[in-house]
Amino acid sequence: MRQPKVVIVGAGFGGVSAARALANTPLDVTIVDQHNFHTFSPLLYQVATSSLAPDDIAPNLRGIVRGAPNLDARMTTVRGVDFERREVLVDHGAPLPYDYLVLAAGAVSSDFGVPGAAEHAIPLKTLANATKIRSTVLSRFEDANADRSRAGDGTLTFVVAGGGPTGVELCGALSELIAIVLRRDFKRMDVGRARVVLVEMTEHLLGSFSPRSRAEAGVELARRGVEVRLGVPIAAVAGDHVELADGTVIPTRTVLWTAGVKANPVASALSLAQTARGQIVVRPDLSVPGHT
Ligand SMILES: Cc1cc2nc3c(=O)[nH]c(=O)nc-3n(C[C@H](O)[C@H](O)[C@H](O)COP(=O)(O)OP(=O)(O)OC[C@H]3O[C@@H](n4cnc5c(N)ncnc54)[C@H](O)[C@@H]3O)c2cc1C
Repeated sequence: MRQPKVVIVGAGFGGVSAARALANTPLDVTIVDQHNFHTFSPLLYQVATSSLAPDDIAPNLRGIVRGAPNLDARMTTVRGVDFERREVLVDHGAPLPYDYLVLAAGAVSSDFGVPGAAEHAIPLKTLANATKIRSTVLSRFEDANADRSRAGDGTLTFVVAGGGPTGVELCGALSELIAIVLRRDFKRMDVGRARVVLVEMTEHLLGSFSPRSRAEAGVELARRGVEVRLGVPIAAVAGDHVELADGTVIPTRTVLWTAGVKANPVASALSLAQTARGQIVVRPDLSVPGHT
């Protein structure tokens, strides 16, 4: 007897949980992701600051599905869905037919249209972002070591945009990397000239946390030498500085963007009802109105 086909788009936390829940059931399940690994996002900041290797937080997707005979994986990017034909359209290979479709493609980083952010800032949302941050930070230290006059031109100033959990974690880990590891590795350089600056547009770090947690985060970052600028948004990012909305210019060649996320653009390719922020509108049981 033909087993009903389930296609799960996205092997993040949602997609992998769905696949695990459907393991060893009478369903033929394929989980599709643009990568052949799952990204454990809560530890991206540790890869970005060299305390974990990329493999440590990116288990192989085939390993995740290996144990259940009814689960399979496909590495390809989803471009859309043909709801009439019940097929998922992918960027290489034949469309994937389904009886049931699970959409779990997650979110992408949002630069909120700040001029220059897309060109010059590095987000922290994917494993590729984390390894780029890591190599960029280390390269800045190599540059400043090769030409000591550069420490003052912003080469060793790291600006983090966004004082939510990711920005706070990243600043804490970055300041630790500099103070503990790089101070030893670059022993002939004045590593004390390196700056980590956290810019948050609201009046608080960790806006969704309790007042006590917010205050403790501020105290801890200050103890680690992180300069926190609250209540001012970044107005523009350039290759050698950032400009804050109050006119302050901070010379820097490294802007790390943790200011927020928006709905995955694949949502817009589906012609489904969306919220103002681009998220797909769903019922309380997560089903899409008008689709069964
Ligand atoms: C740096 C960082 C730290 C975080 N820390 C925490 C934390 O400590 N605690 C917490 O609860 N949450 C944390 N979060 C939030 C958490 O990671 C998300 O809420 C969670 O990942 C959402 O799960 P998801 O399955 O919806 O999306 P994701 O986990 O993002 O998975 C989406 C998947 O879809 C894939 N995909 C996207 N588009 C396509 C496409 N077109 N075709 C094929 N595949 C596609 C992606 O490759 C990805 O694997 C953090 C997020 C970040 C970025």
